[in-house]
Amino acid sequence: MTTNRTFTMIKPDAVANGHIGAIINDITAAGFKIIALKYTQLTPETAGKFYEVHKERPFYADLVSFMSSGPIVAAILEKDNAIEDFRTLIGATNPAEAAEGTIRNKYAKSIDANAVHGSDSNENAAIEGDFFFTAAERF
Ligand code: GDP
Ligand code: MG
Repeated sequence: MTTNRTFTMIKPDAVANGHIGAIINDITAAGFKIIALKYTQLTPETAGKFYEVHKERPFYADLVSFMSSGPIVAAILEKDNAIEDFRTLIGATNPAEAAEGTIRNKYAKSIDANAVHGSDSNENAAIEGDFFFTAAERF
């Protein structure tokens, strides 16, 4: 199990608002190396599968609908302490509570359209990276 990688998505709101470049810049400036990168769009089916862990939560249908509403950028990132450092870089789930200077503080407007995803564990980072990328797509 790798312990120095995380998985992220730049969500449809941040893509639609023109923040791909700024967010990737923040990520690399914070010391993360890009291992894999893809511009794509989830379908309701693939978004539903990706977020299956949340299927009992009241916002699941809204989340699946939102995450399949437009293109996203998916990436595998590498850095020492990647999971925790990336969660710090993106800030709290609710952008209203995200610390000053965090990606969600700067680019997100609401708790659902919150600009970026970040894995919450090494195990989930591996599962989520495998969801989007083959071995040949990682560098
Ligand atoms: P994260 O790990 O910080 O992304 O947060 P969670 O894993 O708890 O939730 C996953 C995603 O579901 C969040 O990033 C939001 O996009 C969405 N979400 C979380 N809470 C809510 C909510 O109360 N309402 C809605 N509509 N979406 C939510
Ligand atoms: Mg989460």
